[in-house]
Amino acid sequence: MVRQPQSIITIDHRPEAGLPAALRSLFIDFDAWFASVEQALDPRLRGKPVGVVPVMTDKTCCIATSYEAKRLGIKTGTAVWEAKKICPDIQLALSDTGRYVHYHQQMIKAIESCIPVDKVVSIDEMACTLTGDWQRPDKAAEIARQIKQAVSKVLAVTCSIGIAPNQFLAKMASKLDKPDGIRVLQATDLPGAFEHLELEDLTGVGRGMHRRLQRAGINTIRQLYAARREVLRSVWGGIEGERVYAELRGGLAYRPPSERRSVGHSHVLPPESRSPEKALAILHKMLQKAAFRMREMNYHAAGMSLSLWLDKNSHTGKRHSWGEHAQFAPVNDTRDLIHVLKALWARRPGQKKILAVGVQLSDLVSDSDVSGDLFYRRDHHPDLAEGNLSLVADKINKRFGAQTAYFGGAKEGLQGAPMRIAFTQIPDPELESDRPDGGRQ
Ligand SMILES: [Mg+2]
Repeated sequence: MVRQPQSIITIDHRPEAGLPAALRSLFIDFDAWFASVEQALDPRLRGKPVGVVPVMTDKTCCIATSYEAKRLGIKTGTAVWEAKKICPDIQLALSDTGRYVHYHQQMIKAIESCIPVDKVVSIDEMACTLTGDWQRPDKAAEIARQIKQAVSKVLAVTCSIGIAPNQFLAKMASKLDKPDGIRVLQATDLPGAFEHLELEDLTGVGRGMHRRLQRAGINTIRQLYAARREVLRSVWGGIEGERVYAELRGGLAYRPPSERRSVGHSHVLPPESRSPEKALAILHKMLQKAAFRMREMNYHAAGMSLSLWLDKNSHTGKRHSWGEHAQFAPVNDTRDLIHVLKALWARRPGQKKILAVGVQLSDLVSDSDVSGDLFYRRDHHPDLAEGNLSLVADKINKRFGAQTAYFGGAKEGLQGAPMRIAFTQIPDPELESDRPDGGRQ
């Protein structure tokens, strides 16, 4: 059993010494993303209150609204009949997830013509790291202007950009001058810059946390800043409170993704995919997806489980499930994992119709704990190129869309197990929502 690393919290500036924290993070948040895409593509919608809806009926809710609609009080979650009561002329646009994802990818490319994107936080939020000269406020603001220009060349939409010592503050900064803002936020601007905000406006403070804060006598942002580290520790129930304490002040908090034990997928097969060949192809694809997500979270796996749901047994007449688990030295290369999958697959019972399949990578170990193995592999298996191929494939898929690069076994399965894209998830098309930090950032 490999131990997870201890949490590391750094506050690398000392406000009492008058040293400002470096501006290390630039955060981009597109303004009213879905509605803006619709307005950009359909000039008749521009300048008008727009509600984006999942289906064309008065009974549904707006899943997004334009700034013109927001100003009238029509927000995400407002029922269409209600929106029509407030504004009989409201324009309704049918939501088109594929379109939003397509332009999301175009926007990442546009931003990357200015600065590398570190983290795609959601369909309309990206985080970048500022290094060297870019940490100067004037340089950082200059990049922000370049990003806006690059973005506007793709589509007539705007984004708001926050620049701050860490991602938490940069995200908050991006909200301060919406829409189309650029805000440089120094640790020394705090808590003043947030004083007009409610506690629940802070990223990571939901209703439950708000209540806990109130119980601890913290009702305002100023009180949150004045609270001692130990108080936040008890409110958040542990080390997370210390992270919040550090991040509020411009420090960097490392979040080990230690709660996650496994990553995997399962899929009910459509009737035409129930043959062993098709089922295996879909398993390949799901495994590659899971391996990609695992690498994104900086993990290796030391275990894999394969589950099959099989059609009626000829003797008992009952449907039944079958599963097998394997343990191995931690790996993150898709090809290694494919070998394991094949070995597990070979042990399955007979040639029966397969109704559903599942594959789970488990016993996750953080990358930093297994680096020794990489050296071993380089020395003894130079042909394996220690996992680089998987990382290259990940990059290609991130940049050009999932499934551009894949390992052979998945070819048959590419049409199966379609990507689920829900609005509440990270709609990165190839990276479904599994946030090691529980979505706090
Ligand atoms: Mg947004």
